[in-house]
Amino acid sequence: MKMGDWEVRVLSGGTFRLDGGSMFGTVPKVVWDKLCPADAENQILMDTNCLLLRGHGHTVLVDTGNGDKETDAFMARFKFEGRGILDANLAKEGVRPEDIDLVILTHLHFDHAGGSTRLNEAGEPVPSFPKARYVLQARDLENARTASIRERASYLPKNWEPLQAAGLLDLVHGAKEILPGLSVRPVPGHTPGLQAVVLEGGGRKLVYLADLIPTSHHIQPAWVMGYDIDVVTCLEERMKLLDEAAGTDTILIFEHDPTVPAGTVSRDPKGKYVVTPVELRVKA
Ligand SMILES: [Zn+2]
Repeated sequence: MKMGDWEVRVLSGGTFRLDGGSMFGTVPKVVWDKLCPADAENQILMDTNCLLLRGHGHTVLVDTGNGDKETDAFMARFKFEGRGILDANLAKEGVRPEDIDLVILTHLHFDHAGGSTRLNEAGEPVPSFPKARYVLQARDLENARTASIRERASYLPKNWEPLQAAGLLDLVHGAKEILPGLSVRPVPGHTPGLQAVVLEGGGRKLVYLADLIPTSHHIQPAWVMGYDIDVVTCLEERMKLLDEAAGTDTILIFEHDPTVPAGTVSRDPKGKYVVTPVELRVKA
């Protein structure tokens, strides 16, 4: 899809599975299981929908999926599928890792930043996109480095310390325009430093929501995740964003939704939010 000078694609960094109860917090299983059927281990299918943006002389990737560094045991625990799929999907678009000059990380949890680094021949983690600047909220790096035991399992230093060591991390403080029409916007709650990515071009707006609203089912503001650190802030940020987007042609990207990665939002006659899918995917 074209948005002004920007060409926009959603591409998968591979699927995985997380506990359905953790994904839907206090929503009863009898409700969410009809929408996202749980498997024998009570896990539900999740995607890692990354965004590829090309325009104004730049090639930009937003989030990087789980990556390919993990052990077979770690991958089995979360049923990772698609080793190498991000590279393969980029190649289908004619993009090599060294062509990417900007990576925006919404936060450093492993299912978003895992693909930021890869193992070299010596088995050491090195930047996956060696010519890219990696943009991140300073608040998220601080949170990652000082994570409490509640969050520590999600923050794996091998996903970002090699970026810092190579001098590739660009830390930002709050909202900022990064390139023409492309900006970041803090949306705290899931983590204190979570940022959404906003693209404006050709009279249209797109918001990459990351874990603020991870799937189209989480469009109901009270459907917060067990993983969200500050539930009330998360709820407020969601309502603010949904108030802006509802009834407009703003495209929302649902990073973890395997079926509806993108859509617009409106309210039905009862005031409930409804998503209308928009197809932006590169088919695997
Ligand atoms: Zn996530």
